[in-house]
Amino acid sequence: MLAGIPRADAQPRYGSFVVCIDPGHPSETARGAAANGLSENHLNWLVAVKLANKLNARGISFVSTKKSENQMVTNRQRAEIANTNGAALMIRIHCDAGGGSGFAWYYPDRSARKQGVTGPSKQVQGWSREAAHTLNEAMKPVLRGSLPANPIKTDAATGVGGKQGGVLTGSIFSKVPTALVEMCFITNRRDARFIASDAGQEKMAEAMAQGIVAWRTKWLQKTG
Ligand SMILES: [Zn+2]
Repeated sequence: MLAGIPRADAQPRYGSFVVCIDPGHPSETARGAAANGLSENHLNWLVAVKLANKLNARGISFVSTKKSENQMVTNRQRAEIANTNGAALMIRIHCDAGGGSGFAWYYPDRSARKQGVTGPSKQVQGWSREAAHTLNEAMKPVLRGSLPANPIKTDAATGVGGKQGGVLTGSIFSKVPTALVEMCFITNRRDARFIASDAGQEKMAEAMAQGIVAWRTKWLQKTG
């Protein structure tokens, strides 16, 4: 049973380290992929709730971009929630569809213009790159044997990013480090079996939580 993602502690225990959890979809662009009887939107939500619980258990403050699984939130609004909360990371949780297997991180490496706004800044690009690499490295040992790690890519490699100057909408409006993870390919039978299981979702959330702990160390060094 899902009671929704709890909100951040009123009193953050680790300075200004707040994570913005963004369970992907539904947005203005897509409701999420579907394959092998699985709904990407549903899986993103299940893993997001597990991640929220794991962060809570570690005393790490967080906010979420959605209060319920089927809430429609635009990609601009998602970025603005992370900005308003001064997030040290906006972690965008998705599943891929297509010919591959395994998890893959995406981050913005350039800026683009949309709705009168140009972004993200060079600083946010650099932080996003570092966050993606940090989380990717931390996740590998946890997911080894379950899901392969794919090379880290940039927003430009995504369908939407490719059409708008190489940057995802959520990145253009982001003033905080932002990275998107495609947890697996739900079109791949083995990946689908993994992510459909409670144990698989638990392992994925644990991998992300360990990545966030690693990022927290780096973030607190940067921001004093
Ligand atoms: Zn997605």
